[in-house]
Amino acid sequence: MSIQQQLTQYAKIDLLNSSTPLNRLNNLSHKFGREIYIKRDDMTPLAMGGNKLRKLEFLMADALAKKAKIIVTAGAIQSNHVRQTAAVAAMYGLECVALLENPIKSDNPNFLHNGNKLLTDLFATRCVMCDELTDPQSQMEALIKTLSLKDAYIVPVGGSNTLGALGYVQCAIEIAQQKPEHIEFDKIIVASGSAGTHAGLAIGLQELLPQSQVIGVTVSRKQQDQAPKVEKLQTELAQWLSLAKTPKVQLWDNFFAPMYGMPNQKGLAAINLLARQEGILLDPVYTGKAMAGLIDYLESSEEKTPVLFIHTGGAQALFAYSDISQTIK
Ligand SMILES: *Cc1c(COP(=O)(O)O)cnc(C)c1O
Repeated sequence: MSIQQQLTQYAKIDLLNSSTPLNRLNNLSHKFGREIYIKRDDMTPLAMGGNKLRKLEFLMADALAKKAKIIVTAGAIQSNHVRQTAAVAAMYGLECVALLENPIKSDNPNFLHNGNKLLTDLFATRCVMCDELTDPQSQMEALIKTLSLKDAYIVPVGGSNTLGALGYVQCAIEIAQQKPEHIEFDKIIVASGSAGTHAGLAIGLQELLPQSQVIGVTVSRKQQDQAPKVEKLQTELAQWLSLAKTPKVQLWDNFFAPMYGMPNQKGLAAINLLARQEGILLDPVYTGKAMAGLIDYLESSEEKTPVLFIHTGGAQALFAYSDISQTIK
C-alpha cells in the first residue's frame, strides 16, 4: 500500500481546502547562485496561517469523534499553536482553554497582549497562566480537574503527537506533487520545535523523495535532546503507516541561542534578508532562526544543489517582539 493509501486510514477534517504554494525564491536563488524554493505553510487559510493547521486536521477530527466540548492545550503566551487551535475550536463551536507560560519572563506589554495573544483572546480562549510548562500533559490534566471541565480533549503542545504529525506526512505528499520535475531538492530545511512537523515531513519524504535530506533547525534545544523527540515520533509514524524504516534524524542546533523565544542577531538578519529580497515575513522565534541556519549553510557550502525551505508561519509574533525593530537598520 502506498503512503497516500496508508494515510487515508486516519480520519481527518479538511481545514486547508487546497495546497499551500511552493515557489522559487528568485532573488535569493540569484544571490546564492542555486535553486532556492519555499513551501508557504505560513499561508494556510485559518487565523492568519501557520503549520499547526495541518496537525489540527487530524487532531480535531479525533476530538469531534470523541464528542469533545472543550479543547485544552498549552504553549507560550506568543504560541502560534494556541492561536490556531483556538481558531479551529471557535469554528466548531467548542470552548478553548489554554495553559500559558512566559518562557522569556518578558514584561513588555506587546509580548503580553499583542501578536498571537491578541488573536488568541479574540477567539475567546480562556487563558490560564502558569510559571513554567515543565510537564504540560499532567499540568493540563490537573487544570481539567481544577476547573471541573467536562468533555475536555487535550491537544498536546504544538499538536505534536503521532496523530498530529500525520498532518506533515500529508504535507510531504503535497510537496512531492508540487515539486518541479527538473528540480531535485538536496536539502529541505524546517524549524524543529515540538518535532511533529520535522518527523512527519522526514517520514513522508523518505518514501516520496528519498534523495532529499530533511534537516531540522532546532529552536529550543540542543541536538542530543531534540533527536530523541524526533526519533520517537518517526518510529510511531512508521508503525502507524506500516513502513519498514525511519530516516536518520538530521539537526542543526547552532541557531536558537540564547533560548526558546529569545531573538538573536542571525535570526534577525534572516528576517531582514527575506523581507528585503523577497517581501516575505519570517518570525523571530522559529522561521528566522531556521532561515539563519539555511543562510549559514548557503554561505559556507560549495555545493550548488537545489534546496527547499519550509515556511511554517509565525509572523504574527513580530507585533509582540516590536522591540526588535531597534536592532533592524
Ligand atoms: C510550532 C511552530 C514550528 C515548529 O513546529 P513543531 O512541529 O512544533 O516542531 C515552526 N514554526 C512555527 C511558526 C511554529 O509555530
